[in-house]
Amino acid sequence: MKIAIAGAGAMGGRIGLYLTESGQDVILLDKWQEHVEAMNNKGITVHSYGKQTNHKVSARHMGQYHEPVDLIILLTKALTAEETIDQLIQQGVITQSTKVMSIMNGLGHGDMLLKKLDKEQVILAVTMWSAGLKGPGELILEGTGNIEFGYPDGHKDEFVDQLKEILDQARLNGIISDDIVTSIWNKALVNCCFNTYCSVTNKRIGEFGAYEKADEMLIPLVKEIIEVGATKGAKLNLEATMDKFHKMYSPEVVGLHYPSMTQDIHNGRKTEVDFLTGAVSRFGDEAGIDTPYCDILTHLVHQIEK
Ligand code: NAD
Repeated sequence: MKIAIAGAGAMGGRIGLYLTESGQDVILLDKWQEHVEAMNNKGITVHSYGKQTNHKVSARHMGQYHEPVDLIILLTKALTAEETIDQLIQQGVITQSTKVMSIMNGLGHGDMLLKKLDKEQVILAVTMWSAGLKGPGELILEGTGNIEFGYPDGHKDEFVDQLKEILDQARLNGIISDDIVTSIWNKALVNCCFNTYCSVTNKRIGEFGAYEKADEMLIPLVKEIIEVGATKGAKLNLEATMDKFHKMYSPEVVGLHYPSMTQDIHNGRKTEVDFLTGAVSRFGDEAGIDTPYCDILTHLVHQIEK
């Protein structure tokens, strides 16, 4: 299977590298020329638990690739996903038989893809892998994870089985989902709450949770997201969500981490807030549900973005 990674940053780099090393025919596409050149000239340098190793991959500038592929793995930031898909359709990389799997965080990617592609072409996924980009061609790869995926409407076919086999061969741990929409909303729920609150307060997840009234800030926001999520078919639960949140505060879980949105703000980059609380606000408007918490958090994050 010919696979293109569209957006070979931290996460796209990790997944592209693992697939390459498992013997798949993979091209890593990215718009950052210096990163593309570094990957082609010296491979991907992986920093992992104090060790450094080099790994050969094939990369190309996004605008310079014109061959059709069987599978696109979409891992740009959400902000540039739509223009990337348009560009790859225009360049003939995405054809009518190409499957596109989005593993990006956030909400609304399925709707965006289904406007441009046939429903048999669109696969949604959520991952527990993580990755860091240290510089051009340099990744920080630690920990483990999985990729849960499926068609938005939950149907299954031979391709889904084939994809699981490919992901498992690459040690990426594929899980065929029965309800990918709920899984995506469950991850977005975490990101909507902690990415925004930690960014606004400039706190690590554990520091935010140490505030004795953190639940008073979280519960109304979670309720808002659950109500809007239900209109999109997501089955979310307040008690289970709060239980999960309380466990996250521990230093052994993610208590010591700044969420990715807070890191983006520290690095002067635009955030994915419009695809988190911003998306909940938009879906709320469509469904006639008020979303004051999501509205104000989206504004606050935009205010602090540089
Ligand atoms: P990333 O910032 O590492 O890469 C995204 C794009 O930005 C890539 O095209 C990359 O080349 C470009 N980029 C990064 N730094 C740049 C620079 N200095 N100059 C020019 N271009 C630069 O993003 P990511 O972490 O791989 O995230 C991709 C998607 O995956 C997002 O939706 C994210 O939320 C999601 N995700 C990430 C992780 C993670 O641990 N990194 C985990 C789960 C989901």
